[in-house]
Parts: sequence; C-alpha cells; structure tokens
Amino acid sequence: MKMTMLVLATIVIICLCFCYARCRKYDNAVARGICKMIFPGIATVIFAMVMLFTRHRNISMLAHSLYFISTGWLLSFLLTYTIVYVGMKPKEKIKYSLMYLLLASDAAFMIYNFFTEKVFTISYIIYSEELSYYKFEVFPLFTFHAFFVYSLVVFTFAALIYKIFHTGNIYRKKYISVALIVGIIVVANAIFMFLGDAIDFSVLGYAVGGLLIYYYSLVYIPTELKHQTLALVADDTTEGLIIFDENNECIYMNNCARKILGVDSESLKLTGTVAEEWLDIHNLKNYKNTVINYRHNTVSDDRYYKISFNRIDDEKNYYIGSYFFIQDLTAEHRRIDEEHYKATHNGLTGLYTTEHFFDMAEKALKEHPDDTYLMICSDISNFKLVNDLVGWEYGNEVLVHIAEAFRMSATPDEVYGYMGSDRFAILIPKDQYDETWFKAMASDITYTKEDISYVLNLYFGIYEINDRSIPVSVMCDRAYMILNTIKGSYTQRIVYYTDEVRENVIRENELVGALDGALNNEEFEIYLQPQVSIDRKLIGAEALVRWKHPEKGFVSPGEFIPIFEKKNVISKLDVYIWHRACRLLKRWKDEGREDLSISVNISPKNLYTLDVYRIFMDLVARYEIEPKNLRLEITETAIMTDIAKQNDLIRRLQQAGFFVEMDDFGSGYSSLNMLKEISVDVIKIDRIFLEDSTNIERSRFILETVIKLSKQLNMEIIAEGVETKEQVDFLTELGCDIFQGYYFDKPISVAEFEEKYLQ
Ligand code: C2E
Ligand code: MG
Ligand code: MG
Repeated sequence: MKMTMLVLATIVIICLCFCYARCRKYDNAVARGICKMIFPGIATVIFAMVMLFTRHRNISMLAHSLYFISTGWLLSFLLTYTIVYVGMKPKEKIKYSLMYLLLASDAAFMIYNFFTEKVFTISYIIYSEELSYYKFEVFPLFTFHAFFVYSLVVFTFAALIYKIFHTGNIYRKKYISVALIVGIIVVANAIFMFLGDAIDFSVLGYAVGGLLIYYYSLVYIPTELKHQTLALVADDTTEGLIIFDENNECIYMNNCARKILGVDSESLKLTGTVAEEWLDIHNLKNYKNTVINYRHNTVSDDRYYKISFNRIDDEKNYYIGSYFFIQDLTAEHRRIDEEHYKATHNGLTGLYTTEHFFDMAEKALKEHPDDTYLMICSDISNFKLVNDLVGWEYGNEVLVHIAEAFRMSATPDEVYGYMGSDRFAILIPKDQYDETWFKAMASDITYTKEDISYVLNLYFGIYEINDRSIPVSVMCDRAYMILNTIKGSYTQRIVYYTDEVRENVIRENELVGALDGALNNEEFEIYLQPQVSIDRKLIGAEALVRWKHPEKGFVSPGEFIPIFEKKNVISKLDVYIWHRACRLLKRWKDEGREDLSISVNISPKNLYTLDVYRIFMDLVARYEIEPKNLRLEITETAIMTDIAKQNDLIRRLQQAGFFVEMDDFGSGYSSLNMLKEISVDVIKIDRIFLEDSTNIERSRFILETVIKLSKQLNMEIIAEGVETKEQVDFLTELGCDIFQGYYFDKPISVAEFEEKYLQ
C-alpha cells in the first residue's frame, strides 16, 4: 500500500514538474500563477510521503507541521492564481499582505505545535503488518489553520462562481472546469482531514489537478477560445470567407459568404452558386495570393465582386487547404457610378455638365480624327422673361422639354450637354446634321400655361470645326459669339460661323468698346444738313453724327449706328448728340436766330430704354430753348412696334411744344396704315422714292398720294435726299413743303454751316 502510494506520489511529482516545465514556456500571469502553486504542491506531496513512511515521531511531527504549512501556501497560491485567472485586478496589496500575515501565523502555529502539541498531536497506529503510520488528532487550536485554509478555498470558489455567472457562454467553460478540479481536490483533502489518515489521497489529485489546470488554463481553453472567437469574428465580418480543406472540401463559410452566394445556413455546397464561376474547385492549390475582380451579369442588374484566393501551407509547406475572401462591391460600384453621374450630369436635364461636355466632345473629336464636326450652341432669347413671369418651375419644364427633344433625336455619335442657364451645346458629325430639324426645333418652342401661350425663341449658332487644335470651350465660344449676332431676330434662327462674320463681330466689339472713350475725347461731332423751304428759305438743319476715329479715320454713321443699336448702347450717343444740338440752338438763340430749328434723330431702341419725354423736357429747360426749335425724328419702324404707347408719347411731346417728325417714311412696310394711326407734325419722305428709277411712274404716283394724304391730315412734308433740280421742281409741284438733300447741301460741319448760312 505504502509502496503504491510512493509510486503514485512519484508520478504526481513528475506530472507537476512537467506542468512546471510547460508553464515556464508561457510568459503570462496565469502561467506564473500555476508555477507558483507547483512548489507548495510538490512540497505537500513530499511531506505527505514522509508522514506515511517515517517511524520517527519527531520527523513525523515535523512533516505534519510542514504538510499543513505547505497546504496553506498551496491554497494561498491557488487563490492568487484564481484571481488572475478570472481577470480580477487586485489592487489589494493590503489584502495579500493580510494573507501572507495569516500564512506566517499559520506557520508559527505549526512550529509552536512542534514543541507544545497544542494544535494537533500524532499517535502511531498499526493497522496491519504492512500498514502502520502516525495518525494525527486535532485540538481546538487547529481551528485557526482549518478556518484559514477553508477561507482561502471559499474565496477561490467565490471568485470562480462569480465569474461563472458573469461571463459569456464560451468563457463559462473555462471557469467551471477549474472550479470542478479545485472542488474535487478540496473535497478529497477534507475527507483526509476528517479521517486524520496518514494516506492523503487528495495529493494524487494534485497531479490530475495540476495537469488539468495547466491544460485548461493555458492550452485547451485559450485555443478553444481562439477558435470560437475567430469563428465569431469571421462570421461577423463584412467580407465573405470560405475555407477549404486539403481535399478541396468546403469546411467553413461565414454568414457574409452565405448571404453573397445564397447558400443556406446548414449547407457548405458551392455548386450552383456564382462562386463556381470564379474558381476551379479541383485546383485550389494553384491559387496563391490571387485577386480577381468579377462582374456578374444578371437579367435585372450587374453585380461586382472582388475575390482574393490563397492557399494555406503548414510550417513544413504541406498544403493543408485554401480560403478565399469575397467582397460584394456592387453597392460601392453603384455609389461611385452615382457620384460620377452626379458630377458629370446636370440634375435637372440629365445632360452632361459643361465641363463634362467639353471632355466628352474632346474625346469624340479624338476618336474620329477624319470626320468633320459641327459645334452647335443654343440659347433662348426671352427665357429669363418667361422665367420671371411664370416662375422658375415652368422655366425648368421648358429646359427639360428641350433637353428631351435633343435626347430623342440624338444619334449615337452626337455629344450634347447643358451649359447652364438656358444654353445647350451639341457636337454633331457634319453629315448627320439636319438643318430642317434644327429650324423646326427653333420655331417649335411654344408653351401654354393657364391659357397663356409663350413663344420662346430658340437660336442656334453653328461653328464648323476645321481647326482641332483649339479647345472645345473656344469652339463653343465661337458658336455663341455667332449666335449673339442673330439673337432677338424674328426671321433668322440659325447662324453659321464664318471668318467674315467673326471679323465683323470683332469689329463690332471694337466699336462698342471704343464708344465711352470716344465720347470722352469728343470724337463725335454734329454735322448739319440744311433744310430749305419751298421758297428757298433756310428753316433749319438735321443733326447727323460723325465719328472722327483717331485710328480708323472717318466712320460712317450707317456703320456704327446699327451696331450701337444692336448692342443697346445707342442711348449714350443719342443723348450726347441731343445735348450738342441743344447747346447749338441756345447759341443761335442768343445770336438772335430763333427762327432756325434742328432735327435730331431718336433711335427706336431709345423709345424703350429711355424716358424720352423727361429727357427732352429737361434739355429745353436746361438750355433755355423753345421746344419747337428742337425737332424730333422718330422712324416709322420704331412707332410700329407699339403704336399705342408711341402715340401717347408723341402726343405728350407735341403738347409740350415739340415738333415730331416721322423719319424715313415709306421705307417700312405699312406706312400708309401708320398715317391712320399716328398724328405727327412732319412726314420725312424717304429718298427711296426719288432713287427708284425703274418704277419712276409708280413712285411718283405714290409720292403724290402720300403728300396729298398728309396735307389732308395737316402734316408738313419734308423730302429727303433731294439731289437734282428736277426732283425739286417735281416735289414742289406735288406740294412738298421742305427739302433736304445734296442738291442744296451735304451735311457739313457746324463751323462751315454757320459760316455759310448764318453770316
Ligand atoms: P437719316 O436720319 O435718314 O439721315 C439722312 C441721311 O441721308 C444722312 O445720312 C444724310 O447724309 C443722307 N442724305 C442727305 N441728303 C442726301 C442726298 O441727297 N442723297 C443721298 N444719297 N443721301 C443723302 P448719314 O448722315 O450717313 O446718316 C445715316 C443715318 O444714320 C441717318 O439717316 C440716321 O438714321 C442715322 N443717324 C445719323 N446721326 C444720328 C444720330 O445722331 N442718332 C441716331 N440715332 N441716328 C443717327
Ligand atoms: Mg433722320
Ligand atoms: Mg431719314
């Protein structure tokens, strides 16, 4: 029996030494805690053996004392190990000190007992021939030791049990296993104590306990934990993960992979899934760090995947399996596509933005180097007005409608974009350009809302791309530049860019740009053309502007007046000329020539942009002249556009004392009709009647009728452009009152006029 115990004890010690050696390899607090327990553990076993074998009473007594002391140490270290194991943070240096104090006291008690035998005593017992030993018997003072060691056990259990109830499922096992081991050993030890036997079987449990604690604390649980945690992490990732074993059998598939591939939670089969298209299941060995981007076309949409394969080799380079990660990039692709779309397309019309249009047009031109292209830009002339009148929602509807029209008719080779505001641009191969379509488009934009129809004038400027070295933006500029030359026109909706037109535009811009400077430098001058009455008496003159340009020399009003009108700057010049004319009238008045009048021209534009009535009233007041001496020439066309309004203005001017003349009468379309509507003081008959030699009889007849009619309507007649004596005679015969023309004089400078006529 004793020998069996000795053999077992030796095995226990070997096991504990083995544990110690294994634990030393781990550099962590748990491993250190186990190591610390092993020393008192081995000591306990050794003392238990001495207790069993010795016949010497003193040695047995000492062995008993040391046995109890080392049990105390063992349980103390068990407690400290447990505290570390359950992850409590002992800031309790004080509590440990108390424990060590109690340990020391326990040791002192035991040594004290060696001399006094007041804690326990031993007596030799012979059970049989082979089995005799010292049995111990405890006295009340032993309670201290018992209380101390069982307190340690209680604390240890308390820590473990607390943790068992306060941890996740996968950790619980870790604490239950240690609690069970400790429990079994403690129970065995309690039985030994209770029986007071020399054979402490509980020490055999140390080997098992030590091994199990070592195994559970450092090997099994951490590995198991690692696996379980990894599985949870793998299941939780947003990337799909599939793992194959060495036989290429799928052994693991995480939730994400299942979702991507549509595999249900039980199955590990990849057959029938999209994964089959990615990988050759039988040759997984060949995939080493392989990444593929895969686009899967389905009937409803395209899906995008990124798949990374890799084989797994063990440390000896044996193939043990493979795995792949799958990322479903469909959403990402859609987001990028959407962002790209947003950045490159106008939200309202869905057409390319300006920048993107330039890029795409440039690309198209590069891809078709031999084709001739047209850059077509469009603009709506009265869009802003409609926008203001009916509201921007309606304006937006119009833009969408136009965009839709371009989209519907576009061929695949066309590039079209929305250039902001009310502008669109189209790049189109010349051979696909259909002028009829654009003409129809330009005249087609009529919208009706709440029973009101709005006609929008769409204009196209077309630039033929001959020079591809210039940027697309400049091509657009050229198309727009040319478009601006017809903007506002009722008849022309499409204009083609030519070098000649371009030069004209440049010249126009130059002239307009020079206007302010020219006014400041007094480059504009009044020339006067005398007006003579039927009895050859000078009654006044028409003020005609002359521009003495420092570089270009003399510029004809026939050239710059229409440009200034088109560019809406004519008012600056007219007002300037009116001032000069008034100043002259004032001087003549001061010189006693109040009988002379000056006729000034009023550009049709000014009737809309200026408060003409106010200006003339101010002028006569300022220069202290009589309104009747300032005659105002308004053209027939200016009146025609808004008869009611102009009639009112004319009436007010007449009431103020001004003479209103209708200039260029007969050059328009509805002159006779106008006489019915308008009552001016003077009709200036256009020289066109005198010039026309082919229909001389017809012209004469018309002239005669007009003059008669005017007379009957109490209007004075001035004949313009009278060049010959015959004309004078003939017009006199017809009853014309006043003459103006080269026959009498050309427009001449003020100085010359005064010298000639006022001396
Ligand atoms: P308009 O008002 O009809 O002026 C008469 C034009 O006929 C003047 O041309 C004059 O030189 C020209 N003329 C006069 N007698 C004869 C003639 O016997 N034969 C021919 N062939 N021509 C004759 P001009 O000075 O070149 O002016 C052209 C037009 O420019 C004017 O036509 C007028 O519409 C405009 N204009 C001139 N000065 C002004 C101005 O200060 N303001 C505005 N708004 N327009 C002006
Ligand atoms: Mg005139
Ligand atoms: Mg005229």
